[in-house]
Amino acid sequence: MLLDNRTLLFSLTMISALVALSLAVVSRSGRRDGLRIWAGAMGLESLGWVLISVRGMVPDALSILAPNLLMVGAQALKLVAVYEFRGLPWPRWRCLLPVLAMFLLLAELQYGDFRHRLIFGSLIYAGQMLLLVEILRTDTVAKQGRAWWLLFGSMVATIPIFILRALAALVSAESFATVEGTVAPNAVQMLMFVCVIALDILGSLGFILMEKERSDFELRALAMTDFLTKALNRRAFTMRSEQEVAAAQRSGAPLALLIIDIDHFKQINDKYGHAAGDTVLEEVARTITGGVRTQDTVGRYGGEEFGVLLPATDQAGALVLAEKLRKAVAAKQYDLGHESISVTISTGITVCAATCAQCRSNINQLVDEADQALYQAKREGRNRTAVKPVWCAGPMRQPLAWTKT
Ligand code: GH3
Ligand code: MG
Ligand code: MG
Repeated sequence: MLLDNRTLLFSLTMISALVALSLAVVSRSGRRDGLRIWAGAMGLESLGWVLISVRGMVPDALSILAPNLLMVGAQALKLVAVYEFRGLPWPRWRCLLPVLAMFLLLAELQYGDFRHRLIFGSLIYAGQMLLLVEILRTDTVAKQGRAWWLLFGSMVATIPIFILRALAALVSAESFATVEGTVAPNAVQMLMFVCVIALDILGSLGFILMEKERSDFELRALAMTDFLTKALNRRAFTMRSEQEVAAAQRSGAPLALLIIDIDHFKQINDKYGHAAGDTVLEEVARTITGGVRTQDTVGRYGGEEFGVLLPATDQAGALVLAEKLRKAVAAKQYDLGHESISVTISTGITVCAATCAQCRSNINQLVDEADQALYQAKREGRNRTAVKPVWCAGPMRQPLAWTKT
């Protein structure tokens, strides 16, 4: 060995303690994401490893009983952290039972029967890892990121180490007979310590990165969303529209665009105040987003204007949906606290069909077309839908998506 066992274990312990400390420092207070609990678990573990590394130099109660309880407690905390990360209530018995089992095991076997303690202790740790693996396995959202694999992989890899340790203690009785004065009775035990700490640091890194991936996703979603109406903001809607136009050109399916504008909205603001106007905007947005299909996209295009993209929808289909939305908005009463009012919308429709000139146009041209139809609806008296007829240069090709069922 290049390093003696005590030095090696102590160095690794310091590394995991520093990871725990930095985790505690960077985790944001008030955020229930499990990071602080995980940091606490790593702190407990580091303390446990320190006590193991001074084994033989301090009383057994301090170097055997205490570290085992600290370790099993740390794994229980990690389980709580993962549950908190997922926003689930932590299951009491799953977390506390292994701690209790370890306590009873140590109390029953005292400190003398090192081998039996190793066997049963290892199985308790392996069981705890299994519980962690199980809750991670069912996290379908985090699974989509790469960090999840780091955490999951390190947990899975730890299980056979504990099982091998139990088996090694079972088959080679002599080398596991005593622990007196040594950090670890043999090379197998020492190697297991090193592997477990390394995997532990890797897993912690995975947990931190998993949290970071989620924060990044939330930030991206926030940057794409309109604060008031929760619909896509104009930038995100335009980007999505460009993708949809490209997809429609590839598939040959028609793509409809609706521009919806609230009628006489300025009067609502002037008469009832800006806050009342905001309430109406939110409610109209809810009606629109609730009235479209999941594959459709709703964006707040301007102040009180919404864009709705309808993939694989022809003119007739778009008209049916626009009228459904118009009637739904008009049917509602908008509660402004002291008074309820009714609101109407006007809608302009344009349809882009793959073989038509419009389909080669960009999204701005499509919006222009829908806008022209919208102004026509406004001119004709509002609370209505107008369509900009599709002008087709050549004969229409049967769009692929239409033939699908
Ligand atoms: P029209 O029927 O012709 O559409 O008339 P209008 O009054 O709805 O049209 P106009 O474009 O004149 O008014 C839009 C108003 O929307 C003006 C602006 O003050 C208001 N507005 C824009 N964004 C917001 C917002 O976020 N909240 C509120 N409360 N009002 C907004
Ligand atoms: Mg308006
Ligand atoms: Mg407007």
